[in-house]
Amino acid sequence: MKAAILGGGIMGVTLGYLLSRRGVTVEVFEASPNLGGLAGPLTLDDGTEVDRYYHAILSSDSFLRELCTELGIADRLRFRQTRMGFFYQGRVYSMNSTLEFLRFPPLGWIDRLRLGLTVVYAQMVRDWTSLEGVDVEKWLVQLSGRRTYENIWRPLLKAKFDGGFERTPATYIWARLVRMKSTRGGANQKEEAGYIIGGYQTLVKAMAERIEAAGGTVHLRCPVQEVAIDGGRARGVRVNGELHPFDAVIGTMQTPIFQRLIPGAPKQYHDFLNQRRYLGIVSPLMILDRPLTGYWTINMTDDRFPFTGVIETTAYIDPKHVGGYHLVYLPKYTAPGSPLLTLSDEEIRETWLSNLEQMFPDFDRRSVRYFLVNRERFVEPIHELNSRHLIPPVKTAVEALYLVTTAQIYPDLTNGEAVARHAARAAETVLESLAVRRAVPEAAPATAIADVAAD
Ligand SMILES: Cc1cc2nc3c(=O)[nH]c(=O)nc-3n(C[C@H](O)[C@H](O)[C@H](O)COP(=O)(O)OP(=O)(O)OC[C@H]3O[C@@H](n4cnc5c(N)ncnc54)[C@H](O)[C@@H]3O)c2cc1C
Repeated sequence: MKAAILGGGIMGVTLGYLLSRRGVTVEVFEASPNLGGLAGPLTLDDGTEVDRYYHAILSSDSFLRELCTELGIADRLRFRQTRMGFFYQGRVYSMNSTLEFLRFPPLGWIDRLRLGLTVVYAQMVRDWTSLEGVDVEKWLVQLSGRRTYENIWRPLLKAKFDGGFERTPATYIWARLVRMKSTRGGANQKEEAGYIIGGYQTLVKAMAERIEAAGGTVHLRCPVQEVAIDGGRARGVRVNGELHPFDAVIGTMQTPIFQRLIPGAPKQYHDFLNQRRYLGIVSPLMILDRPLTGYWTINMTDDRFPFTGVIETTAYIDPKHVGGYHLVYLPKYTAPGSPLLTLSDEEIRETWLSNLEQMFPDFDRRSVRYFLVNRERFVEPIHELNSRHLIPPVKTAVEALYLVTTAQIYPDLTNGEAVARHAARAAETVLESLAVRRAVPEAAPATAIADVAAD
């Protein structure tokens, strides 16, 4: 069996590795010069490789840790105690202990107690399905009270969703709080973040090597132009104008990009995928010659600032692994069609830096070695209230064509751990389907959309 995997991000490469371990001959096609996708690297003029976007691994990311062990790279994992803070009315408040939490000024005693109980309550909820139809604002106001909602939750949600979050279910905050709990590691339950030396690249490259060792191929700078669909079945992929035949074709990119590659798929399937929306991101990376705050993350509760947070990854990545530099990311999530995606790099640089100067009067522009603006239109799938039926299934409406993508990850947040776990589940679906097709070579053509959507 020969399978083409479209996309060499964490999803595509994990899937390729797991399928090749089970005897499938895999070819991964990646459009860019590097593997890793959103978790891929940037190379500075001096040759230093840094993460294009900020990435942390948590000590509870057990699937990733097992993968690292299996691939012989577990000795490259590092974890460090870190700090998190909130920027509120012109200053940073550390939020790393109960005492600090109890001192946080915008809230009275009762509010603080209710906020603490909200976090504990959310982390105890096991049946998240009960929250799918519950509006996030309603849920948080009910649990935390109006003042805490206005001072803490609303600004955080507004920043994350670039304004509108009216149809967001409570599962979103639930998933965040559950993941937040797992950043607390060690006996003293202090905040911890981790990384692999060399970034997710190290993991992705190790898996790519195993794919090749098993007889597969990884093609870089190889954008797939089209999936060849004939008689309701995927026959292969078109690359550089040439058709490469495959028994199975698996797209791992975001659905709007996948759709461009499948003009031959039924219209109803396109209509179904068209309902999926994504948040984008504008995320400048500042490469500094000195630390900025020493905090891993500073959350903004003040929407006058254009960025959602200040994320200093060298609070947990040893600077010696990134050329001795200090890395600070200033992300802003963007709603579909946001004008921010069209601002020039220079405009973003000027706006972002002048705001940073207002936040931190000691910040000196001369410490900025590089200011690199990175943008992405499709980063995080948006899940609305009661919208599970809109999640696309792995088996598509076209026979032998599969879609394994972050939009299928719900209610978990889309991080490396969730992506790799999803790739493992999807590998089973693909293998089962291939086994059925091998047993019944003349299986019925394209499954009806309704059946597929119910998958
Ligand atoms: C700002 C930001 C911060 C994040 N922070 C964290 C974090 O702290 N921890 C964490 O674990 N995760 C984090 N993530 C999430 C993580 O990066 C993603 O969940 C993960 O990288 C998604 O991987 P993917 O393979 O599904 O998608 P992608 O990485 O988007 O991969 C899709 C790939 O498909 C390729 N492609 C597209 N079109 C074609 C084509 N026609 N032919 C061939 N290839 C094609 C693309 O080039 C890309 O490489 C963060 C993401 C962002 C954006």
